[in-house]
Amino acid sequence: MANSKQVSSQSVVVLGGGIGGVAAANRLRKRLDQRHRVILVNRYPDFTFAASYLWVMSGKRKASQVTRPLKALERRGIEVVLGNIENIDGADRTVSVDGKRLNADNIIISLGAEYATDTIPGLKETGETFATLAGAQRLAPAINSLTKGRVLIVTAAPMYRCPAAPYEAAFLIDAIARNNKVRGNIDIEIHSAEPGPMAVAGANVSAAVISLLEERNIAYHPAHQITAASPGRIDFVDSKSEPFDMLVYMPPIRPPQAIVSTPFVGPSGWIEADRNSLTTSFPGVYAIGDNTQLSLSIGKPLPRAGVFAHAQALVVADSIVATIEGREVSSSFNGHGGCFIETGFGKAGYGTGNFFAEPSPAVNIKQPSSRFHLSKIIFEHNVMKRWL
Ligand SMILES: Cc1cc2nc3c(=O)[nH]c(=O)nc-3n(C[C@H](O)[C@H](O)[C@H](O)COP(=O)(O)OP(=O)(O)OC[C@H]3O[C@@H](n4cnc5c(N)ncnc54)[C@H](O)[C@@H]3O)c2cc1C
Repeated sequence: MANSKQVSSQSVVVLGGGIGGVAAANRLRKRLDQRHRVILVNRYPDFTFAASYLWVMSGKRKASQVTRPLKALERRGIEVVLGNIENIDGADRTVSVDGKRLNADNIIISLGAEYATDTIPGLKETGETFATLAGAQRLAPAINSLTKGRVLIVTAAPMYRCPAAPYEAAFLIDAIARNNKVRGNIDIEIHSAEPGPMAVAGANVSAAVISLLEERNIAYHPAHQITAASPGRIDFVDSKSEPFDMLVYMPPIRPPQAIVSTPFVGPSGWIEADRNSLTTSFPGVYAIGDNTQLSLSIGKPLPRAGVFAHAQALVVADSIVATIEGREVSSSFNGHGGCFIETGFGKAGYGTGNFFAEPSPAVNIKQPSSRFHLSKIIFEHNVMKRWL
């Protein structure tokens, strides 16, 4: 076993300053000796907490409350490089950022997912999304001033970031309309591309969410893939069309440009890392979070969620620290995770369990309560105040 005091200085380069990247960089900096460098690279100067976008959409948060400068990490000794990652070379362990080369002993790829809104003609022009901070900001006044009409919420593809988010959006829009005493004049409908709410989590979870939607008089149309949108109308794959006054959407996703055409990606187009160790086929190169495709026994991938990106970040950071210190790697991602489902009126449900369970994910859903809403606020507080 190597003595950590004898190990020469090593560099860990973390690609992406989202949930996975920031969590990994923090953990590495905390656990690694100061002689080793931790470098985080991100395109934009700010970290934004996507799990709070729905509160921005509701008017409960300002953009500034869910945004922090990544440079704040520098006071902890994490080097922050702002720029566009153009190439990642796994064999060489080098990264090219705005034409400059960064050398690394270990690389963590956490570049998230890109929105592919352009794959549905007219969607961007006629609808609005809560999946970006700017979109959530634009929706806030529109939703809070609604007095009547038909609100359609669509998931524009079966795969998207955070399976709970569109359902939370529907509950929150319903709650705002009820608080404003205009719900009787407003129809709210969800048309989802997927076969059921949070379907990967299991039929029990889908059934529980459907029952909550029914209680709130939110009509639900599963497996109803949108094909195009035009002013006041959307078209579906079954040739039906629906009129709307407000169209709110969860965009489809695609792999981030920087990993497309690299040898890291598998047939899915995403990085098919080992689901326990998060290693890639290149030694010293790991992948976590939304840019990975981790397969489940039911043939579907692990949902894209910050809670998993976070857990995976800790596993990979600990593996890298153990490797650098010459210890045996013992950390492993076990597929456990939980997700809050905001239902408005100061309450949230909570779906939690083991997504790696055999023969199918074993996930339970807990009924909405103020306790889970408070837990989500504490989670937000921890990320915004402790990580950055
Ligand atoms: C509305 C909404 C609500 C959500 N709510 C929840 C929730 O309640 N709970 C939950 O667990 N998850 C939630 N999620 C999902 C969660 O936000 C994501 O799963 C999580 O952000 C993934 O983390 P990541 O590090 O993999 O990617 P990201 O957080 O997306 O970070 C990727 C980073 O890489 C950067 N990047 C990409 N390409 C380049 C490049 N070429 N050069 C430089 N930088 C680059 C990006 O700018 C970005 O900063 C929600 C998502 C949305 C949209």
